[in-house]
Amino acid sequence: MFETLSDRLTATFKNLRGKGRLSDADIDATAREIRVALLEADVALPVVRQFISAVKERARGAEVHQALNPAQQVIKIVNEELIRILGGETRRLRFAKTPPTVIMLAGLQGSGKTTLAGKLAKWLKDQGHQPVLVAADLQRPNAVQQLQVIGERAGVPVFAPAPGNGVGDPVEVARQSIEHARAKLYDVVIVDTAGRLGIDEEMMKQAADIRDAVRPDEILFVVDAMIGQDAVTTAQAFLDGVGFDGVVLTKLDGDARGGAALSVAYVTGRQVMFASNGEKLDDFDVFHPDRMASRILG
Ligand code: GDP
Repeated sequence: MFETLSDRLTATFKNLRGKGRLSDADIDATAREIRVALLEADVALPVVRQFISAVKERARGAEVHQALNPAQQVIKIVNEELIRILGGETRRLRFAKTPPTVIMLAGLQGSGKTTLAGKLAKWLKDQGHQPVLVAADLQRPNAVQQLQVIGERAGVPVFAPAPGNGVGDPVEVARQSIEHARAKLYDVVIVDTAGRLGIDEEMMKQAADIRDAVRPDEILFVVDAMIGQDAVTTAQAFLDGVGFDGVVLTKLDGDARGGAALSVAYVTGRQVMFASNGEKLDDFDVFHPDRMASRILG
């Protein structure tokens, strides 16, 4: 992901190299090239607009005109503005004062929620926490089993409705999981919820009901970075329907253009907190806006 964008930006900056002072025309031309590169990478239009206007304004200011090496200065501005669009500082998980901390995952089916639940659980366990995974996705026939397999791989227990009890009520399962965690002294409860292939009122209502039943400390919206511009509309729908505190980007190892990944934080005002970049449990990390910006700028 981001290779094309990265190459385009590198080429743009190359054109500036060796120039003495930069004229307004040089800056406008550079801004235009960056704009096209971002749009081609599928970055959402409002994000591109805000980004270009910030870069242009700063590049026209004294810091570039007076710089001995204007190209370097422009790169520095682009880097700083990229970090800002990506959410600035890394946002850490908020833990409850009185355990258990409840983390609820929401997102479309196939976004990578269940896989992410396992990754997050393992990551927390490696830090000395005692998480429990909750199978509140009772829509998909084998979702519970999938979570159990992932839980086993992660070495983390899974709270699921007892087999033979019919389909069960996901809201009730989620509610019971909190009592279970208290009784067993688990300190983090990770609730995997059902998604659908598209945005769906019933799914939103169920997620909102689960939210009201477990009162999460963090609701994380999980989004597949490969789905392009749809990531932004999906994020907006979940923000309105359920609300969320942070974003998890998945499938950053894919070969899509990656603009979605660059847009969601800005458009929703919620920071990307984690990134998932593969199918293995360890293909997961805290999201650092500065590292992502460096990766894009090459
Ligand atoms: P859910 O329906 O939201 O629970 O999604 P799943 O966790 O079942 O993931 C859907 C598919 O995406 C599975 O085949 C996962 O192995 C795959 N997947 C999840 N996260 C990633 C990732 O970061 N990179 C890649 N390449 N595949 C992933």
